[in-house]
Amino acid sequence: MTEDLLQVLRAYALQNAVRHGDAPKAGAIVGAVMGKHPEFRSRAKEVSALVRQVIEEVAALSPEDRLRMLEAIAPELLVVPEKQATRKGELPPLKNAERGVVMRFAPNPSGPLHLGHARAAMLNDAYLKRYGGRYILRIEDTDPKRVDPDAYRMVQEDIAWMNLGITEIVYQSDRFDLYYQYAVKLIELGGAYVCTCDNDRFRELRRAKKPCPCRGHTVEENLNLWEQMLDGTFAEGEVSLRVRADLEHPDPAMRDYPIFRVLTSTLHPRIEATVYPLMNFTVAVDDHLLGVTHVIRGKDHIANTGRQRYIFDYFGWTVPEYIHYGRMGIEGVVLSTSEMHVGIDAGTYSGWDDIRLGTLRALARRGITAEAVRNAMVAIGTGDTDISFSWENLYAENKAVIDHDADRYFFVPGPVTLPISGAPATVAEAALYPNDSARGTRSLAFNGTVILPAAEIRPEVTMLRLKDLFNVSISFEDGVPHLAYAGDSLAEARAAKAPIVQWLPNEAKVPCLLHQQQGDQSGFCEPGVRQKQGTVVQFERIGFVRIDAVTSAGVTAYFAHR
Ligand code: GLU
Repeated sequence: MTEDLLQVLRAYALQNAVRHGDAPKAGAIVGAVMGKHPEFRSRAKEVSALVRQVIEEVAALSPEDRLRMLEAIAPELLVVPEKQATRKGELPPLKNAERGVVMRFAPNPSGPLHLGHARAAMLNDAYLKRYGGRYILRIEDTDPKRVDPDAYRMVQEDIAWMNLGITEIVYQSDRFDLYYQYAVKLIELGGAYVCTCDNDRFRELRRAKKPCPCRGHTVEENLNLWEQMLDGTFAEGEVSLRVRADLEHPDPAMRDYPIFRVLTSTLHPRIEATVYPLMNFTVAVDDHLLGVTHVIRGKDHIANTGRQRYIFDYFGWTVPEYIHYGRMGIEGVVLSTSEMHVGIDAGTYSGWDDIRLGTLRALARRGITAEAVRNAMVAIGTGDTDISFSWENLYAENKAVIDHDADRYFFVPGPVTLPISGAPATVAEAALYPNDSARGTRSLAFNGTVILPAAEIRPEVTMLRLKDLFNVSISFEDGVPHLAYAGDSLAEARAAKAPIVQWLPNEAKVPCLLHQQQGDQSGFCEPGVRQKQGTVVQFERIGFVRIDAVTSAGVTAYFAHR
């Protein structure tokens, strides 16, 4: 009997030590044993005596031996519960992915990619990396009204920036002949009919769950009408090919939706066509023909998934695994491509990388890395709960990526020039990176006059510490500040609660404009920043910034985050 109890206690002590990587805790073990083995509850005294014994035993074992022993005496306790298996930053496993996956990212080329796109792009990519396989970039350009010719290039640039493991690229505009062939097949299977009804009339009938007269066409009639569609017999808006879906379906969106239309008023930048397939048809046909195994897309596509199933069913194809993630509200930036277009045309935004926009190129301009975007998106994951995007999390991820390479510099916004009386001329050696002398220093020569952020000079502040230089006392005469040398001691500055402030020698300063979403700040930065074009540095006490441009007139920087 004692042996039974001992063995159970030992098993839970081992499990506890394996999970937490340190010596097992008595309370947790007793709790687990009593919970799982009510038969031992009456032997509480014995339990507390024996638990000490097993803790000692287990504590003496190496981590490998603990694991081996647990495997030997209670393998069932090795199984990690589902909740723990998906830690933060780890995506849940995909069903049917053991033999590799075929994923796709399917943007419309209507503008550059933004944060919303990055979620689909990065999640698909993360699974590709996990399971191996193919990752198709599918350019969904079958609606000429939503194609911006420049976007073909921009999408590719954004994908290169995201560093996606794309293995092949497919343009839907290259596949119109294929879509026409499958349209004919679908008609032959009785799955689609050509409808020439007036649109409003059709909608009325559909609302009433009634078939329109065209639904009764024979296959031959439909094939003839389809030929006429292709021949140009019908004008734009006069005709469509519809899926014969379910008129009784409670969701009107599932009832006989269109899959082809005639469009002559808008030209396509890549092809000449008058009959255009619609998205649900091209997506279904391509997901099948390209062998896509898993589709990860937003909840806003759930109705489309329903529509696409009709097409899969008519052809007898197996549907991929669908995962629909929840909506993600993103505050503080513009995400609507049409709003961006209008703003750029009107000159409200400087371009697609204006930092008030949520485009990836705007993030890149600020020094946000693709790696941080990836980590943030993987942390958000595929859950179907609606969430609001956390900029703070993105910034924390980005800081982890950039901090170590970011040299430190002084930037003095809104500067005031002030002499300091009684101070010896000296050279401050300020660390390029804190507590890492190997990185070296910047030398700032003090020669009597400095510039400081004017906002730091306030009547209630009587002492300042000029960072890496010395302390100054401040007195006011008729509202005019006078600065005087007040010793070098950092300890004294701390004791006096003196603000530590960035500064620059008046003789060695470079004009610098810092762009921020809330507005620009102008001032001066250190000359060393001129060597940092294209990199991220930290402006001390301000935050991380990307040095965007360096010209003879000065430096332009973009604010990333604190
Ligand atoms: N082109 C569609 C979109 O960007 C995606 C289609 C899909 O994921 O099925 O919304």
